[in-house]
Amino acid sequence: MDSLLLIRYGEIALKGKNRPFFERKLLQNIRTALKGLEPFKLDFRRGRYYVRIARENLHAAQKRLCCIFGIVSISTVFEADLDLEDISRKSLELIKQHCRPGMSFKVETKRPNKRFPYTSPQINTEVGAFIMQSGLDLSVDVHKPELLLTIEVRDEGAYIYTSRLRGPGGLPVGVSGRGLLLLSGGIDSPVAGWMALKRGIELEAIHFHSPPFTGEAALNKVVDLCQLLAEYGGRVRLHLVHFTDIQKEIRLRSPEEMAITIMRRYMMKIAERTAHRMKARVLYTGESLGQVSSQTLDNIAVIDNAVSLPVLRPLIGLDKDEITAIARKINSYDISTRPHEDCCTLFVPQHPSTRPSLERVQAAEEKLGEKELIEAALEKIEARVIYPAYFAALTNRNRESPF
Ligand code: ATP
Ligand code: MG
Repeated sequence: MDSLLLIRYGEIALKGKNRPFFERKLLQNIRTALKGLEPFKLDFRRGRYYVRIARENLHAAQKRLCCIFGIVSISTVFEADLDLEDISRKSLELIKQHCRPGMSFKVETKRPNKRFPYTSPQINTEVGAFIMQSGLDLSVDVHKPELLLTIEVRDEGAYIYTSRLRGPGGLPVGVSGRGLLLLSGGIDSPVAGWMALKRGIELEAIHFHSPPFTGEAALNKVVDLCQLLAEYGGRVRLHLVHFTDIQKEIRLRSPEEMAITIMRRYMMKIAERTAHRMKARVLYTGESLGQVSSQTLDNIAVIDNAVSLPVLRPLIGLDKDEITAIARKINSYDISTRPHEDCCTLFVPQHPSTRPSLERVQAAEEKLGEKELIEAALEKIEARVIYPAYFAALTNRNRESPF
């Protein structure tokens, strides 16, 4: 037998004339997330999405949908005709699946369909009485029920459920345009990426690595982080930049206390050029004000000066504890804390400047042959499209992109 999922959105409801655009995007993202779980039937009716899917795929579908931005909650529902008898019968059927002997329950009705000839309290009473007469060992508790049976009487039918799974909220990925995330292997930048996705950004990622000083383990970590972000974003294109020559040059030829600032400016410049190629309109980083010496206000100003694209820092006002809590929630923490060599820590100076002067930084950069270095790095960029882990088997099997 098939199961039916009812999916609710949140902020989209507040959109005015643009609402259909948001709704269509969410429909598309839900369909994409369910690839490989066919056959399923996806419908959109009056501000709700409905997915009919084989029962054996229900759990996988719920798990995937809980990562889709725009969704606020998901319920597995029983559908009844707009008829009190059918509603009562289906309610009993559902309650039989969830109750234990001696349990207390309550019926709660929402009735946006005002043409239905019974009021919510009448439906509660009728359905409650029908369940009590069934001979099940249950009692009614309207204050603290162990089982809450909700009935929604809508224009398109009546829907009955006992629980709601929480979705991540936010806006559907893709409604806000494309952004490029500077992704290190640390805790912060994947969280920043998740927050970008949450506001509807379609994400690409750029990572700077320094072989042979950084190895395969560091790269695998970044790929795994992209795979995780792809569970929320559908897919993530990862751009890998060979950064060794630039770092060596900076270390060799510029004042030590400016090295980190200059390195960050180079990252920004390469990221901006890549963003232009990919039609990304904004850069994202995982910086948080004052977290380390390269994240002081003065450093941020000098780093931002290197590019003209907006640089968004969704973690700017968060403490490390707060960032870590999000990392745990989205499951990036365990990947981020795997040991690895980082290209920045390898070349980090003893005393980086917290108050760099833009003029002095620019003068130092002039000695570096910036153009050639950047062009050479851009030429060697390697790009990979990374899908959620559950798509890997699918794409290998079908040898075609699920998108
Ligand atoms: P994270 O935990 O994200 O690595 P961090 O606390 O280690 O952050 P920094 O190393 O100062 O902080 O990096 C600040 C930001 O610069 C990162 O959040 C990321 O956006 C970017 N960044 C740093 N290193 C790299 C890298 N190797 N490749 C791409 N981006 C990087
Ligand atoms: Mg880092």
